[in-house]
Amino acid sequence: MDYYLQCIECGETYDRHYSNQICEKCGGLLEVVYKKSLPKIKSISSFWDLEPVLPYGRYRKFEVGLTKTIKAKEKDLWLKLEIDNPTHSFKDRGSVIEVAKAREYGFDELVCASTGNMAYSLAYYAKAYGIKAKIFVSKNVSKDKMEYIRKTHDADITKINGDFTMAQRHAEHYAKVNNVFLTGDYCYRKEGQKTIMYELAKIKPDYIFVPVGNATLISGMLKALNELKNSKVLSKAPKIIGVEAEKCSPLYKAFKTGKLKYEKPYTKADAIAVGYPTFGNQAIDMLKKFNGSIITVSDEEMIKEQRRFYDEYGLVAELAGIASIVAYRKIMPKGKSVAIISGGNV
Ligand SMILES: [Zn+2]
Repeated sequence: MDYYLQCIECGETYDRHYSNQICEKCGGLLEVVYKKSLPKIKSISSFWDLEPVLPYGRYRKFEVGLTKTIKAKEKDLWLKLEIDNPTHSFKDRGSVIEVAKAREYGFDELVCASTGNMAYSLAYYAKAYGIKAKIFVSKNVSKDKMEYIRKTHDADITKINGDFTMAQRHAEHYAKVNNVFLTGDYCYRKEGQKTIMYELAKIKPDYIFVPVGNATLISGMLKALNELKNSKVLSKAPKIIGVEAEKCSPLYKAFKTGKLKYEKPYTKADAIAVGYPTFGNQAIDMLKKFNGSIITVSDEEMIKEQRRFYDEYGLVAELAGIASIVAYRKIMPKGKSVAIISGGNV
């Protein structure tokens, strides 16, 4: 769908040929705004059936998304297995969009910051598109994970002595100085992430439990919720419940106090160890609009659930990946629930 970009801070607009994901006037985040109302998608038999609700682009139609939704052992709980994606996390949905944009704008290199999964996913699609990938990872990313990504996908990885928020500053600086395409948790990725909500719409859940790190996934899903209501696919919006780790819960606190503040992450769930979520403020506004909430789960609870998940389903999920099931157990809401199993890279 044809679109333009709008800065969420200062309101400046850019046409779709603008080859940056940050406002050049104020440095704010951009949002994809569609020029027409989005059509109703009748059935989804491939991720690319969703192209009419995605930003217009020259996409190579790699296999991605349309992950399995399975019934859990618990009554009224379904599991959305994002571990089924090519690099075993939900990130792939955003990466196929972002990397295609990098190619469309003529870049031969992209850069991103990562806690691990983003690096794996972007490096995979960058290689498929023949683009170099420069990646800054936070210090908690395991050496094995980095070596695997470096060797398999030829990515240039630099480990920085800091957390994800600091890695993100490095990536933004690198993009500016070297004129390479900045990728990561920005507007195009958010459009890719929103597709999970489109896939879930047909089972009409009452509650969806979503792990929250940089808040791109939850913001994308909330954006899709709005679109699905407007196109009359959903008559009743499900309640979205964001799940953070107790030892890294900036959004949970901001939801109560109204102010998002940086928090040093101490959780072992590395994929959601983000001290200052990029889409944090936006996520809170949208959660309030759609009557959603945020809850926290402990590392101990996630570790226990990770073992149980393996025993029950024979599947491997990372700690952040099953945070959603732990959260479901705490609330046990009445009605149909979906837990997003966001990633399986341990
Ligand atoms: Zn701006």
